[in-house]
Amino acid sequence: MDLTALDQLLAERGEPRFRAAQVWRWVAGGARSYADMSNLPLALREYLAASLPLSTLSLRGEQVASDGTVKALLSTTDGRPLETVLMSYRDGRRSVCVSSQSGCPLTCTFCATGAMRFGRNLTSGEILDQVLQFTRRRPGVAPTNVIFMGMGEPMMNLDNVLAACERLPDLGVTHRRTAISTVGWIPGIERLTSTDMPLRLALSLHAADDALRSELMPVNERYPLADVLAACRAYHERRRRRVFVEYVMLAGVNDRYEQALALARALDPRIFKVNLIPYNPTDSPYAGSGREAIAAFKAALEEHGLPATVRLTRGRDIDAACGQLAGRAAAA
Ligand code: SAH
Repeated sequence: MDLTALDQLLAERGEPRFRAAQVWRWVAGGARSYADMSNLPLALREYLAASLPLSTLSLRGEQVASDGTVKALLSTTDGRPLETVLMSYRDGRRSVCVSSQSGCPLTCTFCATGAMRFGRNLTSGEILDQVLQFTRRRPGVAPTNVIFMGMGEPMMNLDNVLAACERLPDLGVTHRRTAISTVGWIPGIERLTSTDMPLRLALSLHAADDALRSELMPVNERYPLADVLAACRAYHERRRRRVFVEYVMLAGVNDRYEQALALARALDPRIFKVNLIPYNPTDSPYAGSGREAIAAFKAALEEHGLPATVRLTRGRDIDAACGQLAGRAAAA
């Protein structure tokens, strides 16, 4: 919902101040129409129904993977495409992977979103509506976690991302169960460090040396590795929460034994926790490391005191897995 527009409409009608909060409570709880909002005067319900859509996004397509992961292709009112993914786990967690931008201005060479045209930053309403479209489908079984790991670089749109985070608890998602993933955009990491919300920080690292990292992620030229890691340590120092490091496993590129050692040397296990990501195929020239290579890399890290997990790949058969979001309509 466009909350600024809501405030304006209510003010124009001379409605009391508490009305906006009333409407928001209904929306945050997954109401599907204004008609449901039984504590609003009927005339106001009708007026809002005629003037303000309940969601800023419209659903353009949807796919369900064999593991139950759902990918929604959504469109903003000005026609920008974005994708959102819902992953349900056996332990009851329901994680929504949200996009912070339509497309991405960064050009990480292995990522499908990086190859699509950058549209624009998403508003806080558009970010929240990605979660809400799942809340509405199954009232009472709201999402439990939100990860900013969909399209875009959240730290390049941090005002809107943080404004959305402020309201996530109204949707049932606490700040501790919200994670923001970044390429290492230092000003954003610094701001996250100083907010009052206990949000989790995740860092897309992918290489422990500057030359290779710059090749994979050109943004490394602007914010080199040592500075990024220092910013993450400062976050940990202040927030006392581990930083999750994402490391996508590319065959013959960043999966050698010496590279595991360099990674183990670079990261203090008291501060960082490594998540190895099996590479999901895109149109890029890279091939993913095989299962054995990933296991060997993990063992090498652990031998050197750095615990690591391997990310469970979800939704790969519908291009919903990490790095595969490109806003394409599903092939019929
Ligand atoms: N821009 C932010 C948020 C996106 S998170 C960031 O980069 O952190 C998406 C994650 O998936 C990032 O860690 C990204 O590097 C990773 N990724 C990109 N392409 C991938 C692919 N093809 N396979 C697996 N992971 C990929």
